Amino acid sequence: MAEETTGKAKSGKTFDSAYGFSFSIAVGLVLFIAGLVISLTLGEGTSVGLIFGIPLLAAGLVIPVFMMRDLFKTNEIKAPCPNCGATIRTSDATLQLRCQSCQQVIDVREGRLLRAE
Ligand SMILES: [Zn+2]
Repeated sequence: MAEETTGKAKSGKTFDSAYGFSFSIAVGLVLFIAGLVISLTLGEGTSVGLIFGIPLLAAGLVIPVFMMRDLFKTNEIKAPCPNCGATIRTSDATLQLRCQSCQQVIDVREGRLLRAE
C-alpha cells in the first residue's frame, strides 16, 4: 500500500497515514459490530454465538491496535541541521521543526532535513 504512493507528491505520506488510521478503525469497528451481532443473535440459548462472536469482538479490538502500531512506527531521522550542522533527531512523521541550536525552521521531507524557505 505504501509502495504505490512513494513516487507521488510529498504530502502523500500524511494522507496515507490518515487513510490507514481511519481504515484500521473501520476494520476494528466492523469486526466488533459483527461479533456483537453474532453473539447477540446466534448466542441466545446456545454457545455458538459466543464461540464465533467473542473472537470477532476480540479481533475488532486487537487488529486496529496492531495496524496502528505499524502505522505509528515511524522511521527515526538523525541528520545534521542544514543551517548550523548540529545533529537533529526527529521522526519522518514530523513535517517541520525548529533547530534547537540555531532556531532555523527545518522542513522534513522524505527523511531529509531541508532549510525552510
Ligand atoms: Zn541549526
